[in-house]
Amino acid sequence: MLSEPSLILINGKIWTGEPKKPWAEALAVQGNHILAVGSDKEVNSIYPSRCPRYDLKGRLCIPGLWDAHIHFYYWSLGLKQVQLAGCTDLEDMLGRIEANLGEHKGNAWSTGWGWNETFWKNPTLPHRRDLDRITGPERPALFYRSDMHSAVANTAALNLAGLMNSSPEVEGGKIDVDEEGRPTGILRELAINLIRDHIPAPTGQHTDDALVDGIQEVHKLGITGICEQRMKDQEDGPKALAAFARLNRRRQLNLRVSCNVAAHNLPLVEALGVTSAMGDDYLRLGHIKIFADGTLGSRTAYMLEPFLPGDFDDHDNRGMILTPPDQIASELRRAAEIGFPVSIHAIGDRANRVCLDLFEELRASGAEPPVIPHRIEHVQILADEDVPRLAQLEITASLQPAHILDDMDTADHYLGPRCATAYRLKGLSESGALLAFGSDAPVAEINPFYGIHGAVCRQRPDRMNRGAWQPQEVLSLEETLRAYTIGAAEAAGWARSTGSLKPGKKADLCVLDRDIFDIVAEGVKGDEIVSTKVDMTMFDGEIVYER
Ligand SMILES: [Zn+2]
Repeated sequence: MLSEPSLILINGKIWTGEPKKPWAEALAVQGNHILAVGSDKEVNSIYPSRCPRYDLKGRLCIPGLWDAHIHFYYWSLGLKQVQLAGCTDLEDMLGRIEANLGEHKGNAWSTGWGWNETFWKNPTLPHRRDLDRITGPERPALFYRSDMHSAVANTAALNLAGLMNSSPEVEGGKIDVDEEGRPTGILRELAINLIRDHIPAPTGQHTDDALVDGIQEVHKLGITGICEQRMKDQEDGPKALAAFARLNRRRQLNLRVSCNVAAHNLPLVEALGVTSAMGDDYLRLGHIKIFADGTLGSRTAYMLEPFLPGDFDDHDNRGMILTPPDQIASELRRAAEIGFPVSIHAIGDRANRVCLDLFEELRASGAEPPVIPHRIEHVQILADEDVPRLAQLEITASLQPAHILDDMDTADHYLGPRCATAYRLKGLSESGALLAFGSDAPVAEINPFYGIHGAVCRQRPDRMNRGAWQPQEVLSLEETLRAYTIGAAEAAGWARSTGSLKPGKKADLCVLDRDIFDIVAEGVKGDEIVSTKVDMTMFDGEIVYER
């Protein structure tokens, strides 16, 4: 006897993500998996009419989206901090902080993230004295810039860390100082940690609550799977993994989570004998995360040629390598020995070249290729001759199309004509590289439809009349959706059970309020894609969100 479905979705426009059968109308779910996918007629004829049916009313249904690069732990905790994304100027930023201080009296730390002075009317960096005006001399405060690679601290925080009277040289970081040698409050890269280490860690309960809220928020965006990323030299990894595991035990982890392991924890991983993909259908260990360089916005991306000087006085600045290539090479070898794929953050074209060379050496040394492919995170600037190398070396290109929209003006400023080598979505796709897309939240906007717009339009929604930026790299909607679904699932090693809509796979999907295929076919004029709403999200066969 045929097993009966628990729910049949009918009358839809279903994009399955399966190349052989990309479109369907109906989908039958039993328990947590997909039983059948086909036309209304086919599916209706197999199952008796007593099985419950869910009318999609012609709406577009797609596989549950993956966010292939997200700092979900930080993003979720950040939901409870001061939100500074989208501030229009310094006064706006200070106003938001002040409002938050009013809600939380006392002298506890004030923290937040998301400011980006390049979007301000008067684009100057905030100063510790600006913060002091509203926090006073006692209450410490630290606010991360949107790229998380720099931050501003107030005087109280600098005092707590002992940085007001002596500003030490920091390896892999920088403390900005004024003419008198006093810190301005701006900290770059690893210098931020000197302050951050003084902030009390959130309790387990606080973390669990934040993650549960975070999961509910991403369901509203159709997201059902994530690759959780580590930050450089932060001790968040074990805390995040433990929290995910707690939720999983309580069956509250309504998300597929592939969890990265920071490279500095390699010795622990070796000692325990754990390996990649260990876990279950909800939580698994992912890649070993290594950082090659900084970011474009902070001019710390490692470049083949110097950044354009513009208004800066750093004339021969080619950025910086954050992990010496020798060390990356030895971490690659160690990871390979214990069966872990590696994921390397590389933004600048030189950082990407260094990584590709090291992956090539690893392969030449006879190391067994990992079951789950290695990946490069961001791949933001890539020289022509390096584009085909990712496919050749079977390395996933993990990109965040939202960065195109946020960074295009900065890139024009810092790179000029070399922008032709930035965010090479089409070139990488045509070369045959596996693409996996994500948001990089909280560094960028989490909404996947903002990223989808970025990949297929390459222009900010409010100035579509300018046409696409570097139009040769525009990606089709189908390619883009693949990178947000099956591509990301493949990159995480979950493609056998998720990422597309096919009998036997887990029933992870979402229903959209509009047909973005039609919108793209007609030509996107503004925010039609960005403002897409998710009407329903199903995870593991259960409707976890309905608008
Ligand atoms: Zn990131």
